[in-house]
Amino acid sequence: MKTCKRCIYNETIPKITFNEEGVCNYCVQFDEMNVQYPIDATGYKHLEKYVEQMKIDGKGKAYDVVIGVSGGCDSSYMLHLATKVFGLRVVAAHFDNTYNSRIAVENINVFITKLGIDLETYVVDNEEFHRIFKSLLKASVPETESSTDLACATVLYKVAEKHKVKHIWEGHSFRTEGISPPGWFYMDAKYISQIHKRFGDGKIKSLPLLWLTKWMKWMVVDKIKKFRPLYYLDYNKEQVKKFLVDDYGWQWYGGHHMENRSSYFVNNYYLPTKFGIDLRWCEFSALIRSGQLKREEALEKIKIPKPFEKDILVEIKQRLGLSDKEWEDIMNLPPKHYTDYPTYKKTFERMRPFFFMLLKSGYVTRSFYDKFCVLKEEPKKLPVK
Ligand SMILES: [Zn+2]
Repeated sequence: MKTCKRCIYNETIPKITFNEEGVCNYCVQFDEMNVQYPIDATGYKHLEKYVEQMKIDGKGKAYDVVIGVSGGCDSSYMLHLATKVFGLRVVAAHFDNTYNSRIAVENINVFITKLGIDLETYVVDNEEFHRIFKSLLKASVPETESSTDLACATVLYKVAEKHKVKHIWEGHSFRTEGISPPGWFYMDAKYISQIHKRFGDGKIKSLPLLWLTKWMKWMVVDKIKKFRPLYYLDYNKEQVKKFLVDDYGWQWYGGHHMENRSSYFVNNYYLPTKFGIDLRWCEFSALIRSGQLKREEALEKIKIPKPFEKDILVEIKQRLGLSDKEWEDIMNLPPKHYTDYPTYKKTFERMRPFFFMLLKSGYVTRSFYDKFCVLKEEPKKLPVK
C-alpha cells in the first residue's frame, strides 16, 4: 500500500496520484490553495477589504452578516472574529435537528449572550426528521448527515433573505478540517427528496432543503454571497480552542463534529463501521500539511479506533423506532453510492460555466465548484474497510 510521504493519504483515497517525490495530489492541491488564500499581510488586507465592502452592503439594514452556529470551535470563533475584530453586526443562525449536545447549547448561549448577538433558531419537526433519517439509512448511502448539512446551509440563506443581508460566513478551514476526497460524500435537495420518496413515508415539509430554483434566486436576485474568513487567517485549532475556553468559557466536547449527537453517531460509528469512512484521515492530513500535527503522531493516532459511547446507538435506535433486527438489516445492506440515485449532479456539470461566474463573483465556494461542477460524476469508490 503506497502512502503519501507528506500526509497520511494512501491508495484507498479516490483519485489519488503521487509525484516523483512520493507526495500526493491532495498535498499539491493544498499548496495551491495556500497560495490562493494567503495568511500573510496580503491575505489579511484582502480580509479587511472584504469586511469594508460588507459594511457598505449592510448600510440601512439591521445586520452585515449571517453566521451559522453549532456551538463548535470554528463557528464560535467566527462570532468573536466578526464582532470583536471586525466590528460587524452579526445575526447568528442555528438549525436544530433535535440532537444538540448539552455542551453545544451552552456554548451557543455563552457567545450569544457575551457578544450581544441576535440568534435565529430553526427547529425541525422531530418526527419528519426521523422519517428522513430512516430513509437515508435504508438507502444505504454514507450521506446520513446530508439532511442536517443541507438544512444548515438553507437556514443561513433564509435568515439572510429575511433580513436582506448580503453576506454569509462559513467556518470551514482547509488547513484544519481538510476537504473530503471526491466520491466520499455528495448531497443536494433532489438526492435527499428522491431517497425519501423511495424509502420513506410522508412529504418533506419542515426540513429546509436547498432547491436549485430557490438557491438561484438567493444568489442571482438577492445577491447573497458566501465567504470563508478562516481561509485568510493563520488558524491554529489548538490555540483557538484555548483562547475560546479562557476568554469565553467555551467548552470542548471531545472531537470534531461531536457537538451534535446524531453527527457523533454517524461520524464515530455508522461511517467507520459500515463504509470504512473515517474523517480523521482528512482532518489529520490537513493538520500535517499546515504544520499543526506531526505525520508520525497522526499515523499512530489513526490506528486507535474513534471513541464511541454505546448508549448513543441505543438512543438512535429508540428515537428512530428501530428494533435490533431492523438495525442489523440496515447495517447488512450493501453500501450504495450517490450515483445509484437521482441527483442534481449532471445539472451542476452542465451549468459549469454559469457556476464559474458565480464562483468568480463570490456566490459559491471553490470546493463546491470543484467537486460538484468540475469533477465528472464519480465512479463508485468507497474506502476499503
Ligand atoms: Zn499527501
